[in-house]
Amino acid sequence: MSALEPRPGVARLAPYVQGKSSLEGVREPIKLSSNESSQGPSPLAIDAYTSYADQLNRYPDGNQWELRKAIGEVHGLDPDRILCGNGSDELIQLMVRAYVGGDHQALLSENGFVMSNIHCISQGAELVIAPEKNYRVDVDAMLERVTQKTRFCTIANPNNPTGTYLSGDELRRLHAGLPDNCLFLVDDAYAEYVTATDYSDGADLVDEFDNVVMTRTFSKIYGLPALRIGWAYCPTGVFNLVQRIRTPFNTNGPALAAAAAAVRDQDFMLAVKEENTLWRDRISSHLRGLGVEVIPSQANFYLLRFDEASGKSGSEAAQFLQSQGIIPRPAGGSDQFLRITIGMAAENEAVLKALDDYMSNS
Ligand SMILES: *Cc1c(COP(=O)(O)O)cnc(C)c1O
Repeated sequence: MSALEPRPGVARLAPYVQGKSSLEGVREPIKLSSNESSQGPSPLAIDAYTSYADQLNRYPDGNQWELRKAIGEVHGLDPDRILCGNGSDELIQLMVRAYVGGDHQALLSENGFVMSNIHCISQGAELVIAPEKNYRVDVDAMLERVTQKTRFCTIANPNNPTGTYLSGDELRRLHAGLPDNCLFLVDDAYAEYVTATDYSDGADLVDEFDNVVMTRTFSKIYGLPALRIGWAYCPTGVFNLVQRIRTPFNTNGPALAAAAAAVRDQDFMLAVKEENTLWRDRISSHLRGLGVEVIPSQANFYLLRFDEASGKSGSEAAQFLQSQGIIPRPAGGSDQFLRITIGMAAENEAVLKALDDYMSNS
């Protein structure tokens, strides 16, 4: 037996389980388990990535300046307060490490994205989890749970795995009820997919208050998850603090170059968004027609709930989809739910056909 003693928070953690990516006996499965973009990245991003090959002997720019400038220009944000990370996962972890300790509580929502839970637990913090209503963050339930120990609050907007979102007004109301010494992190991994007109990404709150951070990623609509690039828009105080614990070369050169090209190609991004919207509407109405509950999504995936009374279940549907070469993702820690990423036309057609078959077989 080892005499090593891990910190209690770390010892409590269970390992993260990645979405499945292979199926036995299927050569090219349709992988719809990780909310990846089937359309891939902009060709300009691929060019920037491959052109970087002759500079691999040099350290990348530790200031990440080209990418920060590109993001600042495209989004109309102050590049001095943009921080890039090894995926937005790293940025969330850096924020938690900088602000959350063993005496603190982290305020989270019932179906929130699990990575922030993991980082908070590893810091030794206590998780306080507010229930949701209709699979949406419930602002009142969150605010009822604020205590003197609440130092961190986060929501993903839209959220994964539900796909639901808070409006700009609701986001502002949630922030307004949090103490000034509580960091409010808005994880906008799916912001680009949103079509709801009352949505706000929260950048306005970052500009207005010194305790709000917005994180974004190149892993979803920009189709670059392999490169691990995300970014955070921060108040100056948060930026300066997190800079101290960031490793100087946390983002690599080819990734920085590809991401800068990707964000400058907004035409490509908008085309991906348009295709996603089309399929999101089509799939939702088709599946509702079959009697499957589709949680209203603003993202590039949809969460399905199968009614036990009808003798159908998420796990059984998942098995059936897999028998057809399609990989969905279980969700919600329950047998009722299934999360499926929106893919290319042929992939989506295959899902609909399989679910038609599954639902009509009693
Ligand atoms: C996919 C996802 C991310 C992105 O993580 P990266 O580390 O940037 O790849 C962040 N938050 C949520 C809610 C996600 O679903």
